[in-house]
Amino acid sequence: MAKLNHHQKSVTDPPASIGKKKRICLFGGTFDPIHLGHTHIAQAAAKELNLDEVIFLPCKQSPHKKGIKHASEHHRLAMCQLATAEFNWASVDDHDLTAPAPSYSWLTAEAMMARFPDATLFWLMGTDQWDALPRWNRADHLASLVEFIVFARGSHGSSGQETVPREGYRLHSIQGDHPASATAIRNSVSTQLKTSWLHPAVAKYIINNKLYLSDWP
Ligand code: ATP
Repeated sequence: MAKLNHHQKSVTDPPASIGKKKRICLFGGTFDPIHLGHTHIAQAAAKELNLDEVIFLPCKQSPHKKGIKHASEHHRLAMCQLATAEFNWASVDDHDLTAPAPSYSWLTAEAMMARFPDATLFWLMGTDQWDALPRWNRADHLASLVEFIVFARGSHGSSGQETVPREGYRLHSIQGDHPASATAIRNSVSTQLKTSWLHPAVAKYIINNKLYLSDWP
């Protein structure tokens, strides 16, 4: 498994982290494409929870989602690297793209526990995923391995309701709202390239590689 941009960033680790338990947050997603909502919630989590590192883990596309409007794994990985390059607290890891199937989140968490045995592990998600979590494979087991950081989304946003805690799950809830949506970007890529939801380097990459093609003029 490749740790794609851990190495070059280790030089920027704060010296204060030496000797204390590292706080590492896993951030799984399709990232099709990664947008400023993703980096915004990761940055908010890093700040509020005093995280040493957020690891972006692009996952395999579920087979029923494949189609002309979806980008391939190497494009999604490359866009994640472009969008996070400026953050010394962020890294991108291809574990979930290269690990043998099935790629369940609890398996990813176990692999990261083996890689970082002395760290406290977190898992970052939006409220839509928090609501769907009971349907994830062995969600209770995942909950025993990580603390969840849940960023409000949609009706749960700054003016909406609170994220509902779940017994036995360690929850850190972050209030806020970011309107970016990967689905909206894919559905109207030529319009969305002009909005502020994409990192400029990602927008350029999408143009250069003619991704999400069906909407191109
Ligand atoms: P799609 O629209 O294709 O479903 P998505 O961004 O919701 O895209 P992922 O790329 O899998 O899907 O998202 C990764 C994680 O980021 C998920 O936990 C999702 O809830 C969260 N997320 C994505 N966009 C936002 C947002 N605007 N605000 C809060 N959380 C978000």
